[in-house]
Amino acid sequence: TTYDARCDTWSLGITAIELGDGDPPLADLHPMRALFKIPRSEDEHGVQCLTKDYEKRPTVSDLLQHKFITQIEGQDMMLQKQLMEFIDIHQGMGGTEKARKKNFILLQNTVSEQLEKCYSRDQIYIYVGDILIALNPFQSLCLYSTEHSKLYIGAKRTANPPHIFAMADVGYQSMITYNSDQCIVISGESGAGKTESAHLLVRQLTVLGKANNRTLQEKILQVNNLVEAFGNASTIINDNSSRFGKYLEMKFTSSGAVVGAQISEYLLEKSRVIHQPLGEKNFHIFYYIYAGLAEKKKLAHYKLPENKPPRYLQNDHLRTVQDMMNNSFYKSQYELIEQCFKVIGFTMEQLGSIYSILAAIMNVGNIEFSSVATEHQLDKSHISNHAALENSASLLCIQADELKEALTSHCVVTRGETIIRPNTVEKATDVRDAMAKTLYGRLFSWIVNRINSLLKHGTSGNGDELSIGILDIFGFENFKKNSFEQLCINIANEQIQYYFNQHVFTWEQNEYLNEDVNARVIEYEDNRPLLDMFLQKPMGLLSLLDEESRFPKATDQTLIEKFEGNLKSQYFWRPKRMELSFGIHHYAGKDDVGCDTDETYFINRSSIMQGYSLMDLLSKMMVGQPHFVRCIKPNNDRQARKYDREKVLLQLRYTGILETARIRRLGYSHRILFANFIKRYHVLCYKWNEEPPVSPDTCATILEKAGLDNWALGKTKVFLKYYHVEQLNLMRKEAI
Ligand code: ADP
Ligand code: MG
Repeated sequence: TTYDARCDTWSLGITAIELGDGDPPLADLHPMRALFKIPRSEDEHGVQCLTKDYEKRPTVSDLLQHKFITQIEGQDMMLQKQLMEFIDIHQGMGGTEKARKKNFILLQNTVSEQLEKCYSRDQIYIYVGDILIALNPFQSLCLYSTEHSKLYIGAKRTANPPHIFAMADVGYQSMITYNSDQCIVISGESGAGKTESAHLLVRQLTVLGKANNRTLQEKILQVNNLVEAFGNASTIINDNSSRFGKYLEMKFTSSGAVVGAQISEYLLEKSRVIHQPLGEKNFHIFYYIYAGLAEKKKLAHYKLPENKPPRYLQNDHLRTVQDMMNNSFYKSQYELIEQCFKVIGFTMEQLGSIYSILAAIMNVGNIEFSSVATEHQLDKSHISNHAALENSASLLCIQADELKEALTSHCVVTRGETIIRPNTVEKATDVRDAMAKTLYGRLFSWIVNRINSLLKHGTSGNGDELSIGILDIFGFENFKKNSFEQLCINIANEQIQYYFNQHVFTWEQNEYLNEDVNARVIEYEDNRPLLDMFLQKPMGLLSLLDEESRFPKATDQTLIEKFEGNLKSQYFWRPKRMELSFGIHHYAGKDDVGCDTDETYFINRSSIMQGYSLMDLLSKMMVGQPHFVRCIKPNNDRQARKYDREKVLLQLRYTGILETARIRRLGYSHRILFANFIKRYHVLCYKWNEEPPVSPDTCATILEKAGLDNWALGKTKVFLKYYHVEQLNLMRKEAI
């Protein structure tokens, strides 16, 4: 047999099944009891089933499936339990690295198979530990009615099937119970359902926060629609793809009433304004505005061409103006967005300005240049269509001459002297596009700031308001050709991964150490050195880039040489033949990403600054207690009920769901000060008006009385697992 005495029982269980030849004798199957932690009486049942149903040696997934069939019916929590136990098994596994890897793959396959099963029943939410996995259903499911919303308010986790509303509830209840800020991090690749999940969370949180101020509730719900019209676009992957990162914070009073919301935006993909990849479109708002203004016969008022759509919008397959004007979806979205603006509190005057700036951007895009040779042999550019220039200037309330000068010439300061030099056609075109991008970026930021001041909560002044933040940020990107934007997005993802690691691994471990709690030390791959390579000053990649872009003579070649000369890091590499590119080895499990340099590097300096603002966000988030939603895209065809195993497996691997679940399971996700714990739970074994002494002994008495095990007491805090808190809260509810 394959019995390996050096292995512990867990691995024995798996080795026996995986590697055994022929039918394993019943005795060898015995570790199954340990494998499934089945109590004695049920064990007999389990073994019986095994011998009866499986003539051949069963695989682990056979076993699991079998258990699921017998136990999961109508009880989704069993899936949860099984997965967790399986994860424990992985943790406890001895044996060689190779065997461990093999078993881990097996574990992933099993999890994936279970997800597949759930998915085929339209059950799209699954808990793995306290993480929620959300599978994109690619169809409308009746899961989000008012009844559903009610069902998940203050409910025990096991009372209902897993749900995104339950996550909102967990965040909300934790905020109130511990009087602390919370943060829900939603991750997943493009089209996996992050933005939808964020919407649903906000919706449920406004219900929980009893926004009895209906206007405030309405305003908060409109915010997403509005910023998404400006920040989302149709891509080949997702018709409504977010092209910016969003952090929405909902503000509550200490008693839990919602009082406001604040939004932060990150890394807007501004290059989309001027250029869209094949089959993709510009930001939604351009089409809405164009169709809406056409419908209202206001194109002329905003100096927009009526015979041909603006050049920046021509990538749309709706090439003719008529098509675009007649698009009823665009027209209705225009109405909707205008309504959103009004509900949130924008004035008509502000709306007019916003439309003017959008129209100006479209006109700027129509400005064309031709070259004129001058006496000095300099290639000078000349504006060939004055109408577009005049229109843009008038919409921006500036002089046409000034705009022309800004586009067709540039200043050089040499030895204290300012010299004006003409721009070549190429350069003028770049300047034009850079201007359009900047205008759009500034407009977007302005709208976000305006929303924030309109939704600013009525602060009580004593700083006792609480918040729940929801982070919806695009996932890791790796295309055939990657540029500065991918680099920024991927750095952002590394930062989030770092935050995640900090929370899940480092801080927890430190707290165990400080509190003298005996918990397992967990190894993980730290991405700090990689982040340092990007962010360190003055020798990090971004600093070097910033520095180089200040040199008038800098080129992509000098930039790459600068990187190569200064970045002494294993994470940076140069492909052999390609001159103007470099590669980054990203965090464990992800493919290498190659970056091609091009002009965008130099023009996009402002994005570099935005990459630092992300650090601010993360430090803001770090103070809150985190909750994680991992969205999974079951297939690339956006088809309902189609489950692509390979694809899901890859995502399970990238997002480290299983590792995280394992760590959170082994760790104590709740750490409560003795005094707070006693105040909240003393009713479980004392009279409600009794005031037992604040001591570890009192805490132990309460926990023992509650019949819980596996908790720990530190020097100042009680250490609990997430399921303890659920049980305690339930008992408390019954006791009072
Ligand atoms: P992401 O933000 O991760 O890129 P989205 O949230 O925009 O992805 O989702 C992409 C599309 O998938 C949505 O436009 C919608 O059609 C579909 N979708 C996602 N989540 C759900 C859901 N819970 N129910 C129904 N459809 C969904
Ligand atoms: Mg999105």
